[in-house]
Amino acid sequence: MFEDAIMGHGGNRFSPEAFTAHRAAHVGQMRAQIALFEPSGLTDAEREDLLLMREEEKIARDVYVSLYKRWGVRPFANISGSEQAHMDMILALLEHYDLPDPAHDLKPGEFHDPSLQKLHDDLVEKGLRSLEDSIKVGLLVEELDIADLQKAQTRTVRPENRAVYAELERGSRNHLRAFHRWKLRLGIDYRAVHLPQAELERIAASAHESCS
Ligand code: MN
Ligand code: MN
Repeated sequence: MFEDAIMGHGGNRFSPEAFTAHRAAHVGQMRAQIALFEPSGLTDAEREDLLLMREEEKIARDVYVSLYKRWGVRPFANISGSEQAHMDMILALLEHYDLPDPAHDLKPGEFHDPSLQKLHDDLVEKGLRSLEDSIKVGLLVEELDIADLQKAQTRTVRPENRAVYAELERGSRNHLRAFHRWKLRLGIDYRAVHLPQAELERIAASAHESCS
């Protein structure tokens, strides 16, 4: 599976170009699925969640790009590519509903919302302290993403939104598993912040989920 290689337990059989092609195909399939639905009647809560998730996926991508530059370990490189695909899937929904893109024209590491800017900056600062801290940052970002995606899924009944959120959540669980393997390897102490501790442990102990 592509994602086995992405997560580092499938060897180096796939080139970065092959990953990119696989992800582009995946985003294209999601776009086609979204287009099957009528975009009218979006609620305020649904709009808020889409705008937030677009920026939250950007935080993940941008933090991992910075941490890869500093530490050079594979999960940050591979997972930042996956976060780009997550950003693209949310963008597909923003376009579907004709909503403005809050990440439009923003460079990596830049955010319009001051609280998101601070969150990004704090995560990068912490992750640059040590490799151990960078893995904790990865775990924290994935926990936050899962918690917010779950919340967003309770606030919409739209199949196209739920399909994207479920796909992003599946990706996040795999990312969490990858960072958790590094946590074990490096003997890092980490307690869940955004999810119940038991849920984090359950996800970490369960098998990698391939795409359908
Ligand atoms: Mn993501
Ligand atoms: Mn992730």
